[in-house]
Amino acid sequence: MRMKKKSKVIIIGGGIGGLSIAPLLSQKDYDVEIFESENTLGGRANIIKQDGFTFDTGPSLLNYPWVYEDYFSKLGKNFYDYVQLVKVDPAVNFLWKDKTNLQLSTDLNTLSNEVSKFSENDRYGIIEFFKNSQKKYDLAFKHLVTKNSSNIFSWLKNTGLKNLFKLGLLNNMYSEIGKYFEEEKVIEAFSSYSMYLGDSPYKLPGFFSILPFGELQYGLWMPKGGMYGLVEGLIKLNKESNVKINTDTKIKKIITEKNRAVGVLLENNKEIFSDLVVSNVDSRSTYKYLLGDKVKTKKYKMTPAVYTFYWAINKEIDSMTHHTIFLPENFKKTFNELFKENKIPEDLPFYISVPSQTDKSLAPKGKSSVFVLVPCPVISKSTNKYDEKTLDKIKDKIFERIQIQNINLTKSDIIFEKIWSPDDWGRKFNLYDGSAFGPSHNFFQIGPFRESNKSQKIENLFFVGASTTPGTGVPMCVLSSQMTLEKILSGKTHV
Ligand SMILES: Cc1cc2nc3c(=O)[nH]c(=O)nc-3n(C[C@H](O)[C@H](O)[C@H](O)COP(=O)(O)OP(=O)(O)OC[C@H]3O[C@@H](n4cnc5c(N)ncnc54)[C@H](O)[C@@H]3O)c2cc1C
Repeated sequence: MRMKKKSKVIIIGGGIGGLSIAPLLSQKDYDVEIFESENTLGGRANIIKQDGFTFDTGPSLLNYPWVYEDYFSKLGKNFYDYVQLVKVDPAVNFLWKDKTNLQLSTDLNTLSNEVSKFSENDRYGIIEFFKNSQKKYDLAFKHLVTKNSSNIFSWLKNTGLKNLFKLGLLNNMYSEIGKYFEEEKVIEAFSSYSMYLGDSPYKLPGFFSILPFGELQYGLWMPKGGMYGLVEGLIKLNKESNVKINTDTKIKKIITEKNRAVGVLLENNKEIFSDLVVSNVDSRSTYKYLLGDKVKTKKYKMTPAVYTFYWAINKEIDSMTHHTIFLPENFKKTFNELFKENKIPEDLPFYISVPSQTDKSLAPKGKSSVFVLVPCPVISKSTNKYDEKTLDKIKDKIFERIQIQNINLTKSDIIFEKIWSPDDWGRKFNLYDGSAFGPSHNFFQIGPFRESNKSQKIENLFFVGASTTPGTGVPMCVLSSQMTLEKILSGKTHV
């Protein structure tokens, strides 16, 4: 009996999106091969190991564990057989220069006491925030975030007309959160998430108030061994699913014939043909670099670029918990500087993660592994040059702020450091304009307005990951793999 040949899918990139869609396709009887240009998998969620210190390069916290549970169960697996999670609680500590702080916790009592430090009324505000945000979160994930749609009206109709107004789509994020709290600092802390979504909270839809809520409700976690523990779990799953993985293999071009993707060209000029191509590479970079800019595409506004620091520290840092966010004095001015004036804000907003506080195996005994993230404008728009001078200035500002907050950490505590600039991030992972999180999430760049997971320009080309739907962040990339699979299985070659 003649066996039917399996359809072949090439996946360009072994980031979270690529690693997530591969086992799903394999389960559907596709012959799946991943090509990753770096010598390690994980993409932005990568790892640096040196002298007993382990650093996650990008994500430092895992949220929405239910996304991974659902994903693994779709493959008949138990997530916790692959990844062990450690709860990070207290979760995030927001600091202001006047020495006030807001420590987040999943325990509603603790959280209520924290917000009441600022205003007694906010004790009730947080309860209302939880009640209303749960409805919004459930509606959003059930009917919008996970739904493919090419039409804004049918996308929104999914929620039911009477629910539409509950989503806060007509409000901005700052006002939506402000409905519940009296204290400006509480509103600022919860709105500050917008920085990674690529715009100011005065511009992003109020809908995104579900972000801080989701972290409070479902907790913040870290896989054992750091965030890379998740990538290792996905790699194991890929191997069990018979996915072929090539690292250190850069794709030079997507081969097209009559506007149809038919394979890829490797850097060594070897051609490999396939029935479908899935790009895990940022969609704008895919069109520009892998399709030779032949195709006219939407010019998305991008999320910021970042400087990241990885510091091996010669001691434990008692004065910091796992994740600390340093907020500026003038919140609005900082967002204006970053997103309108395209400069590195004077009063630098940044965060520091010390994962070795949660998992001691990430640093030698009595020492700490420290990660610092500083957002800055995308490369083409930046009014600052990303050179040594700027870097030194940023580093000085970080340490000045650390001193203001009375944290026992100085430059001389650094045993060794690695620094990735916006250019490094852009070059390493093919991130368009050095943007760390992909296209922004303002209203006209989400849902049906975001780059579809099925190319609208080239047949048999699909996208997975942060630049397509639903958007940025590790859980979103995992969800995107299921949405892309849905599009592939729908079998249509035209949208
Ligand atoms: C500093 C930082 C901190 C973050 N923190 C968090 C966090 O705490 N929580 C969270 O949920 N999210 C966080 N994120 C966002 C999250 O990391 C990303 O949304 C997610 O990892 C993106 O995954 P991806 O699959 O879309 O793409 P990528 O990770 O970009 O993967 C794409 C892969 O394609 C490869 N590639 C590119 N070009 C080619 C080519 N020509 N040939 C072959 N391979 C190629 C790249 O090397 C890369 O491995 C953070 C991101 C950054 C940068």
